[in-house]
Amino acid sequence: MRAFNFSAGPAMLPTEVIMQAQDEMLDWRGTGMSVMEMSHRGPEYTSIATEAEQDLRDLLNISDDYAVLFLQGGASSQFSMIPMNLLRGKSTVDYLNTGAWSQKAIAEAKRYAQVNVATDSTANRFTTIADQADWQLNSSAAYVHYTPNETIHGLEFAEIPDVGDVPLVADFSSTLLSRPLDVSRFALIYAGAQKNIGPAGLCLVIVRKDLLGQTLPGTPVMFDYKTHADNGSMYNTPATYSWYLSGLVFKWLKRNGGLEKMGEINARKASKLYQAIDGSDFYNNPIDPRYRSWMNIPFTLANSALDKQFLQMAADNGLLTLKGHRDLGGMRASIYNAMPEQGVDSLIAFMAEFERQYG
Ligand code: PMP
Repeated sequence: MRAFNFSAGPAMLPTEVIMQAQDEMLDWRGTGMSVMEMSHRGPEYTSIATEAEQDLRDLLNISDDYAVLFLQGGASSQFSMIPMNLLRGKSTVDYLNTGAWSQKAIAEAKRYAQVNVATDSTANRFTTIADQADWQLNSSAAYVHYTPNETIHGLEFAEIPDVGDVPLVADFSSTLLSRPLDVSRFALIYAGAQKNIGPAGLCLVIVRKDLLGQTLPGTPVMFDYKTHADNGSMYNTPATYSWYLSGLVFKWLKRNGGLEKMGEINARKASKLYQAIDGSDFYNNPIDPRYRSWMNIPFTLANSALDKQFLQMAADNGLLTLKGHRDLGGMRASIYNAMPEQGVDSLIAFMAEFERQYG
């Protein structure tokens, strides 16, 4: 029996996917090799890699104008690679600050460019996002960077910002593939895999090809997106097993109705959990209802002295990793694609029972 694991990442993977990987572990399709043991340049692995990329392109409807890269170094490396690659002779960049991950991206960008923070949710403790009319965007910025979903604070944009002709760059680490997305609105999308895509070790980058090839002087070859775009993400050895497993997740998504269907299920999962929190005086989520995350739902108990007991009893009931981020305390339920709706139902039932006993 598998537990319902609410970890923010690495997070749950679909059981079907793990079972398929188990099935193929020793001998991938009669080759006598595990995927882990294959040369990344051999025909077997090449077919796995190519199919995964095609499935991702199908799911997100990604046109040939974009390169799809399967990189290492995590989303955190993109915080540096983005300015190195996308400044293209300009010196200023716009960043939206809506939480802890925005802040990390901003701190890194400051090493390379003059950063204009066009809107800043620090003063409201990252519980809401100012209307776009109140942002201070700079039309000569090299790009606008934002974090569609803040994994720690649980603050999520309801719409893609309209930034005119300025290239839009987004850290989709904790929300890519959770619902349909119009990729054509973006210059660059990136996402660490370990939340809603696959195992850790892989970072997806989807980037408009026409923006490549103008890196800052001194950019390491491995930090140049063009290196990876020109070499099918095989300039060096990629994270072969994570790439393969992500490919299995893409197939699982396709079999299960694609991103439309995922979006429906995810909207329902999030909405019932928020309803349960809002319907009780014992639980609280501080985020402006217009900007509540579908994927990461932080909440507190009316009496934080009960936190430990809540976590222990939840774990005893097969509901794992509900402890909030160390910066915020309280609880956080991450409910990515692989969290079954039944897992959310079980959490809600447990919360009601806990409140009945201790509230
Ligand atoms: N951005 C966001 C939105 C994240 O949630 C995370 C990971 N929690 C990161 C960036 C950093 O990702 P990585 O650990 O892959 O560098």
